[in-house]
Amino acid sequence: MDRRNFLSKTSVALTVASPLAWADDDREKSKSKKSSEHSKPKTKPTPAPTPTPTPGGTVKSRVIVIGGGMAGATVAKYLRLWGDGIAVTLVERNSSYVSNIMSSMVLTGQRTMASLTYNYNKLLTAYGVTVVQGDVVEIDPVGVKVKLASGVILTADRIVMAPGIEFDAVQGLTDPNVMPHAWQAGAQTTLLASQLNSMTDGAPVVLTIPLVPYRCPPGPYERACLIADWLKVHKPQSAAKVFVLDANASIVAEATNFTNAFALHGIHYVPNAVISRVDQATKSVFTSAGNFENNGVVNLIPGQRAGKLITTAGLNNATQLPGDSAFRFAGVNQLTYASTVSGAGKVHIIGDASATAQPKAGHIANQEAKVCADAIIRSLAGLQPDPAPVTNSACYSTITMTQAGWLEAVFQYDPATAAMVASAAGSGASTGWNTENFKDMNTWFNALMADSFA
Ligand SMILES: Cc1cc2nc3c(=O)[nH]c(=O)nc-3n(C[C@H](O)[C@H](O)[C@H](O)COP(=O)(O)OP(=O)(O)OC[C@H]3O[C@@H](n4cnc5c(N)ncnc54)[C@H](O)[C@@H]3O)c2cc1C
Repeated sequence: MDRRNFLSKTSVALTVASPLAWADDDREKSKSKKSSEHSKPKTKPTPAPTPTPTPGGTVKSRVIVIGGGMAGATVAKYLRLWGDGIAVTLVERNSSYVSNIMSSMVLTGQRTMASLTYNYNKLLTAYGVTVVQGDVVEIDPVGVKVKLASGVILTADRIVMAPGIEFDAVQGLTDPNVMPHAWQAGAQTTLLASQLNSMTDGAPVVLTIPLVPYRCPPGPYERACLIADWLKVHKPQSAAKVFVLDANASIVAEATNFTNAFALHGIHYVPNAVISRVDQATKSVFTSAGNFENNGVVNLIPGQRAGKLITTAGLNNATQLPGDSAFRFAGVNQLTYASTVSGAGKVHIIGDASATAQPKAGHIANQEAKVCADAIIRSLAGLQPDPAPVTNSACYSTITMTQAGWLEAVFQYDPATAAMVASAAGSGASTGWNTENFKDMNTWFNALMADSFA
């Protein structure tokens, strides 16, 4: 297995390898396995090899990574693992990372926040990444410099930005904690859990979904299923009063499974429900598909855009939704993830902040990070990027508190459109859901997080 071949695997195995030579016949062998592997996502990762030491400690080039989430942690690790003499500095504002993935299970009491928390020790000790806790407030894309809130300025040969997302303002919502999104795992996640626990039984529960593109397409639908299942036991009078207000015209991911699941749980699904405003005092939501007033809990997930730093740096040049006056996400060269803004070619943007046809998902963030690391290493060595990257994503969706379905997607680079496009081969979804998938989900999650942070 080699650096290039890991991308052509269709299974969800998060394989890594030595950055030495590769053979196209290995890719072919991998491709021929696709159909037989497709019946179910694979969950076992190949152990990571020891990182390539920097010969004599000589630093040949420097890369700064901004944001230590799914994308940033992975790119920092793999730049060190595969690169030769690349000094990597990861700047992250928090001392540890809390996974969004699985965080809806905190709402049902099945997970603790501690069980979703990852630190950066392994990146430092096993891979030699310099980890700096700090808030990046400005970048100079041309001078390749990064300024921290502390005033410290770092310089490098390349910058990788992985700042995730930020949320749109919602008219009438002056205190986001009244209607938490809990779409960035943290204080809002525990707040939403406590709101559900303390609400009056019999009160309606509303979950809103923004227009695509947003982080984790199946995520809101699976959260609605989990909450509805939990309510049956803990707030039975509210169980039949779960409303999903979707700004989109229809369910955007795993439509068959979620349609059936909503029928199972008695969830009221309302499409084309674009929020015009909310009233905090009465926990009411006013939408283009009707008004939903006097709710017990409102999980309001607003529209999303790239992390603020992308906009501050003028790198938001892609994706406009109706009514937008500015672009939301960062356009990238999909072979390298370099910014498409003129003069910013030494800045790479990966994960949810970038604009590609791939879903905004942690698994894809991990994959983009590897493509980006490979491209930077080649570029620093004066080589061209891999002309045919392949990425994959697996997603398990909790349909009940003990059962899950799954979705798998493969993306290949299309030279005609210069974009990653979904490939029918290797993509698919489970028919229904079961407890075995639920167990596999935990194995997949542990493998993904280990591949990114350990
Ligand atoms: C409820 C839920 C369930 C999900 N389930 C799945 C799933 O099953 N499968 C899946 O693949 N994906 C899932 N996702 C999506 C996944 O969590 C995201 O796609 C993924 O986290 C994106 O990674 P990222 O690195 O782009 O952003 P993040 O993981 O959000 O990381 C961004 C990091 O950048 C840091 N940062 C931002 N700005 C700065 C700055 N200026 N200075 C320093 N640091 C900064 C932040 O502190 C953060 O640590 C889910 C998401 C949610 C909300």
